[in-house]
Amino acid sequence: MIREGAQIPSRATTHSEEPLVEIFIFACGRGDTILVHLPGDRWALIDCYLTADVKGRFFDFLRHKGINSLAFVFLTHPHYDRFFGMAEVLQYFNEDGRSVENFCDIGLDPKRIKSLLRGLPGESEYARLQHKLEELDRIGTLKFYELGDTPTTLCVKGFEKQMMIVPIAPDTNSKRRILNEAIRKAGCGQSCCFDPNILSMILVLTLNIDSRRGNILFCADAGKEQIDNALDYWGSRTDIDCVSPLFHVVKVPHHGSFNSHSPRLVSALEKEESPCFAAISTDSRMPGLPSKSVIQDYLQKGWTVLITGKRVRTSLRTNRLLGLLDRSCKTSYKTQMNDILISWNTNSGFANESIASSFFEDDLDSYE
Ligand SMILES: [Zn+2]
Repeated sequence: MIREGAQIPSRATTHSEEPLVEIFIFACGRGDTILVHLPGDRWALIDCYLTADVKGRFFDFLRHKGINSLAFVFLTHPHYDRFFGMAEVLQYFNEDGRSVENFCDIGLDPKRIKSLLRGLPGESEYARLQHKLEELDRIGTLKFYELGDTPTTLCVKGFEKQMMIVPIAPDTNSKRRILNEAIRKAGCGQSCCFDPNILSMILVLTLNIDSRRGNILFCADAGKEQIDNALDYWGSRTDIDCVSPLFHVVKVPHHGSFNSHSPRLVSALEKEESPCFAAISTDSRMPGLPSKSVIQDYLQKGWTVLITGKRVRTSLRTNRLLGLLDRSCKTSYKTQMNDILISWNTNSGFANESIASSFFEDDLDSYE
């Protein structure tokens, strides 16, 4: 409550209409390529999956936006849909006066990962990435963060009190157990059993500028148990850091798969400052992802759902023609790929700048 005669800060002078944070989620199929524009005009890359059809667009975007420096590169887990093209990105930022400052991963022995990826997609790409990281380490331009049991808090210079990035990784015991198990199985000729998803790093980006708060959760490909652990951990920090346990934006885990779905995630909605966004990266070419029930769950709890690869009904006319040719085929669908852009400013909070990727109740028909 504001007392009569109390000084009310002028919104025009203290609050900004300009976006202070922007989250770009590239439509790159069944993988993640996320660029985050941070306060202080700094940029972070969370994973990349730069297949031939998206690579050109990604580098054009960097040039168009004049992105000459990456403050952070995060590799959430050693899965090829997270590191495909990352060596090339690191190379790009280490030529022509550009720079990349910090590389953060979950701290696994690359030799062991290489042995587990033998014969799997991404084997040579992972080797290329490690080779590039070794080269940058020799030059001494890159600072490495390997996540251990003590969580790291990353900041941007000048915004230490207003913005934090908190990467949450599986603890050392879990990582050892998962890797040893995978190596044992590989020894028995079951190398395809290696599932890097359960090693996923989960990232929280928390903002508190001009009394406006914003919490974003990037879930990578984490499973339900890890999501719950991360939410427990984040909840435990709310007393110490005066941060909210709730979220305005959730990058939904593992392309909206049901096995990664935690009801706690859906309830972790910051209702006081709606709208809140659940962003899903997928290409919808295969059934089951994103899971219809996962989408439904977010919609019912009041989230705005955004999807990079939406299945959309083709026009009625086409359907009629198809119907004439084949009576059983009354409807047909195509995949519509859209980048997601979510912006944040201190005046109005989060906003969706990518209307085409919005997913409505009506669209659920396409997800039978
Ligand atoms: Zn994965």
